[in-house]
Amino acid sequence: MSLDDLYRQVILDHAQHPRARGVLNGDHVIAVDLKNPTCGDHITLYVRLQDGNVQDIRFTGEGCSISQASASMMTDLLKGQSVGEAERIKNIFLKMIQGEALTEAEEEALGDAIALKGVAQFPARIKCATLAWKALEQGISEQSV
Ligand code: ZN
Repeated sequence: MSLDDLYRQVILDHAQHPRARGVLNGDHVIAVDLKNPTCGDHITLYVRLQDGNVQDIRFTGEGCSISQASASMMTDLLKGQSVGEAERIKNIFLKMIQGEALTEAEEEALGDAIALKGVAQFPARIKCATLAWKALEQGISEQSV
């Protein structure tokens, strides 16, 4: 199996079996609703930020496989991380999607999300892949206001 095929399977698996789908309510929960009109993707991200940690993170939404898989990979990866670490991983992901080279340690930090590396070659899909991460970015910045 080629790496491309493997990555494609990882993406489809996340899209079909999203890891942290659902809604969060209650204290310390930030909800961010974002759309990608060019593709029709829609994501609502729920993050419970408490004591400087991403205590819980879930999403709902619909759209193409890339947008949903990316949200699933991100929620899977960031749950339980500190806010600082979540931001660091987000920045690495955005760097990868812009086609910049990553170090081995950076690739490892991305977990399954490394499977979206090839999206960098398809500018029309970049917004699909970054939608959930932009929602995270917005959520964290709203919280620190
Ligand atoms: Zn899309």
